Amino acid sequence: MVSRRLLISYAHPDDESFGLGAAIPKWIDDGVEVFLICATNGDVGHVPEALRGRFASVAELRLSELACARQYLKFKDVFMLGYRDSGMTGSETASHPDCLAFRWRHHPAQVTERVAEVMRQAQPQVVITFNRYGGYGHPDHIAIQRATSRAFERLRAEAARDDAYAPQRLYYAAYPRISLRMRIWRARLKGQDPRRMGINQDVDTLKSLSHIEPVHARVPIAPYLDIWEKASRCHASQGGGRITRTSRLLRRLLYRKQGFTRVYPPPNHDKADEDDLFASVVLNERG
Ligand SMILES: [Zn+2]
Repeated sequence: MVSRRLLISYAHPDDESFGLGAAIPKWIDDGVEVFLICATNGDVGHVPEALRGRFASVAELRLSELACARQYLKFKDVFMLGYRDSGMTGSETASHPDCLAFRWRHHPAQVTERVAEVMRQAQPQVVITFNRYGGYGHPDHIAIQRATSRAFERLRAEAARDDAYAPQRLYYAAYPRISLRMRIWRARLKGQDPRRMGINQDVDTLKSLSHIEPVHARVPIAPYLDIWEKASRCHASQGGGRITRTSRLLRRLLYRKQGFTRVYPPPNHDKADEDDLFASVVLNERG
């Protein structure tokens, strides 16, 4: 059957909800089949003892949180690649031989092939991943961004040779500049360091701001902010439960559209003149 298929290629259980928790239900309402790659099990990351509860490990807890989010974000399928979470650059966990960042550094072709294999199976026309800075510099985000970009290129090259399946469009999900500026402003107001934000204090908002890329598409998401909040709440161990009235209000004011940077086909301008990532996609059956 001819269908619109979209693959989101991310690193951790929570990236999907925090990043695209409003855009995903919008696409699903539009009849798009949405697939997710979650490359790691989220093994690392501070989890308050009270939340560990019955779970044997942080990974087990975080996978249960992803299962909770799937009630709201109705993916056609989720592909777990099973790498270890790397934690932040320079941490001890980032040199574990099974972690995504280490695997990417030492075996990039293998990681690329894992992503390419998912693409061959799901056959998305549109692929989304992080920007080149991995949103906020997390080594797993950067690793999956690079592996996804290479897999995309590999499949396009294969298709040029043997008329096989090829993805048609590649986008990076964009973080709104205004929202980053607000976070920096609020952090300074509270006497916090904007270079050490987030539950793991590993988010340098100033660097994230300097790595923002041009936006070419703005997808309207205003009716889906409640679902975004519900999916985010599932990831309580990562701070998803801490949605204040102010943050909700800011979301309603600032997040009426989700921006995307078009990578392929390469744009010849830096204008945001798209509102539908499937606008000029050739719809085809899954082979
Ligand atoms: Zn992440």
